[in-house]
Amino acid sequence: MTSAPQGKRALITGITGQDGSFLAEQLLSKGYEVYGMVRRLSTPNTQNIHHIVDRIHLVDGDLHDQASLESAVRRSEPDEIYNLAAQSFVGVSFNQPVVTGEVTGLGAVRMLEAMRSRADKARFYQASSSEMFGKVVESPQTERTPFYPRSPYGVAKVYAYWACVNYRESYGLHVSNGILYNHESERRGMEFLTRKVSDGVARIKLGHARTIRLGTLETHRDWGYAPEYTEMMWRMLQQPTPNDFIGATGEAHSVREFVDLAFRHVGIPDWSKHVELDPRFARPADVDHLLGNASKAREKLGWVPKVKFADLVRIMVDADIRRWANAASGPEKLVSA
Ligand code: NAP
Repeated sequence: MTSAPQGKRALITGITGQDGSFLAEQLLSKGYEVYGMVRRLSTPNTQNIHHIVDRIHLVDGDLHDQASLESAVRRSEPDEIYNLAAQSFVGVSFNQPVVTGEVTGLGAVRMLEAMRSRADKARFYQASSSEMFGKVVESPQTERTPFYPRSPYGVAKVYAYWACVNYRESYGLHVSNGILYNHESERRGMEFLTRKVSDGVARIKLGHARTIRLGTLETHRDWGYAPEYTEMMWRMLQQPTPNDFIGATGEAHSVREFVDLAFRHVGIPDWSKHVELDPRFARPADVDHLLGNASKAREKLGWVPKVKFADLVRIMVDADIRRWANAASGPEKLVSA
């Protein structure tokens, strides 16, 4: 894959999140001028980008607010727009279905409109999700598998997905959907299952906690390492024609396997007394098993994820152990799930 010509400009929504921060680093290393859209919060949330904040441009914007999105596009004059911002947590979407629809669904349409009116030659990446497949109608899923979302989050992502296809077909815009399966890292939000486990195991190992509470151990997901998936986003936008791609490892593992590997990694093979199943974390409708077939991405983008499931678990647990052990301010001041 060739590197980007110097002087390209990218606008990333959701730059403070897991994927946005990895993508920003990668685009900087490819010579891009990077603009990141951030929304106003009472306490700024820039821990994922503090190491690059001097090398990027932060612009104000909120996916609720059309004028702010147009202003972000006008200011950044992007060649590429990566729409990664979302209310991204499936569990919360059941309690906040309207906000999730507004941000995760309509927010994508607002970004498409901002691009159409201010930068119609730009290329657009939409962060679509395997949660759109929900109660799967076939396994593994491909780009042709019908959607059956099982949460307000999944429903909102389906809406955004079809809006992207529609803007591509109606207006000839360069808009692509990355249908990505779960990808995790040491920057994953604390409420997400894998991070809850890696952080919980680290705290138990260091004597700061005794148990982790989870909703189920039987759910299966296709889990990969986030920086490999953000590299795929960039590869998608280097294609001359827009297209939709699945990003997945092609291996499904259970929550039980994740928990087991994490505890074994810190020398606690008998972990049953450290895990409590709590029905409060169960969802009104769950997604049992997701498994992606990424052969289209392999063939057309040359994208092959290399980090294996067991490596991912180790990376996350080691990072949380370091974080707790090295906290200059004392572990009690760190944030946990
Ligand atoms: P994340 O860490 O939760 O980041 C979400 C980002 O969206 C944050 O920067 C957040 O800003 C921003 N945001 C939320 N509401 C906003 C609003 N109203 N206006 C502007 N920005 C807003 O998510 P991620 O894991 O990086 O995922 C990136 C995208 O990929 C998301 O769209 C997610 O749904 C999708 N996706 C993720 C996965 C996965 O496994 N990670 C899989 C498939 C698809 P604050 O920091 O201010 O909250």
